[in-house]
Amino acid sequence: MPSCPILYFVIPCYNEEVVLPITNALFLDKLTALIASGEIAEESRILFVDDGSRDKTWEIISNLHRQDAHFEGLKLSRNRGHQNALLAGLMTAKQYADVTVSIDCDGQDDIDAVSRMLHEYKSGAEIVYGVRAARDTDTKFKRNTAKGFYRLLRFLGAEVVFNHADYRLMSRRALEGLSEFHEVNLFLRGLIPLVGFKSSSVYYDRKERVAGESHYPLSKMLSLAFNGITSLSVRPLKMITGLGFFMSIVSLLAVIVTVIIKLVGYTVQGWTSLLCVIFLLGGIQIFCLGVIGEYIGKMYAETKSRPRYIVEEDTLQETKPTEDTAKK
Ligand code: UDP
Ligand code: MG
Repeated sequence: MPSCPILYFVIPCYNEEVVLPITNALFLDKLTALIASGEIAEESRILFVDDGSRDKTWEIISNLHRQDAHFEGLKLSRNRGHQNALLAGLMTAKQYADVTVSIDCDGQDDIDAVSRMLHEYKSGAEIVYGVRAARDTDTKFKRNTAKGFYRLLRFLGAEVVFNHADYRLMSRRALEGLSEFHEVNLFLRGLIPLVGFKSSSVYYDRKERVAGESHYPLSKMLSLAFNGITSLSVRPLKMITGLGFFMSIVSLLAVIVTVIIKLVGYTVQGWTSLLCVIFLLGGIQIFCLGVIGEYIGKMYAETKSRPRYIVEEDTLQETKPTEDTAKK
C-alpha cells in the first residue's frame, strides 16, 4: 500500500451546470490540501463523468481542465444513469490511480471525510464506506423510504451497508475485483460488499444540495430499489413458491368444505364468496407472474450483455496510449 498514493475523485454529473461552478472549488481545495500535506501524490486528479448531460456540463468540465490540470473529464455518449456513470469513472480511474473516492457533485457528501477515509486505507482497508451519521437534511419522506428500503434488502438476504450510498474509497485492488462483475443491472452498493477484502466505515453528516434539484424522483428511486432487490436476491421467487404452497392447502380445504356442503344439499347461495375468491386468487396470480416476469426481464437484459457505457470523449487521452474505450 503506497504511503503517498495517487488519488482520483470520481464524480458523476448529470445536468449540473448550476452546481459544478460552485462545487468544483471544494474538490480542488481538498485535493491540493491533501497533496500539500503529502497525504496523496501530485499526480492525483478530480475526474468528472458527464453522464450525457443536455446542458453546459461538459463545457464547464472542459474549461476546468484547461484552467487546472488537476481536473479531468470523461463524457459518456448518452445518459446511462448514476450507477453506470460511476462505474465508467471508476473503471477509467483504475488505470491511473492507486485509490479512488466516489462522491456526488452536489456538495451533499462531506468532502472532509476523505482524510479519515485515507487514514483507514493506510491502515489496510481496501474499501472504506462513507456512512451517513444523520439524515436531517433529507425530507421525512426520503428518510423513511430509505430506511424501509434498507430493511427490505436485509430481509431479502442482500448485504448492504446501512445508510451508505455511493460515497466510498476503493483501492485499485478492490476496483480490479469489481471489474470482474459483468452484470448489466448495476446496483453498486450491493455489489461492492461482494467484492470482499478488508473494509471499514467512516461517518459523516449529509448536507443539503448546494444548488439545483435532485435527479432521483420517486420513480427513479423505486427503479433503483427494484434493481437492488432483483440483482441481489432471489428470495421473492422463493416467497412466491411458499405462497403457492399455502394457497394450494387453502384451496384443498375449500374443495373439501364445498363437497361436504354439496353432499349435505345446501348449495344455493354463494355468489359473493365465489367472486371474492376469483378476484383474490386472480390478483395474487397476476402479481406473482409480474415478479417472475421482472426476473425474466433482468435475465433478458443480462443475456444481451450490451455495453454498460460508451465513452464519447475524455481529457485523459492526452496522457495515455489510446485504448478501446467502449467497455463491457
Ligand atoms: N447523476 C448522474 N446521472 C443521472 C442522475 C444523477 O450522473 O442520471 C449524478 C448527479 O449529477 C449527482 C449524483 O448522481 O452527482 C446524485 O444525484 P442526485 O444528487 O440528483 O441524487 P440525490 O442526492 O438526490 O439522491
Ligand atoms: Mg444529491
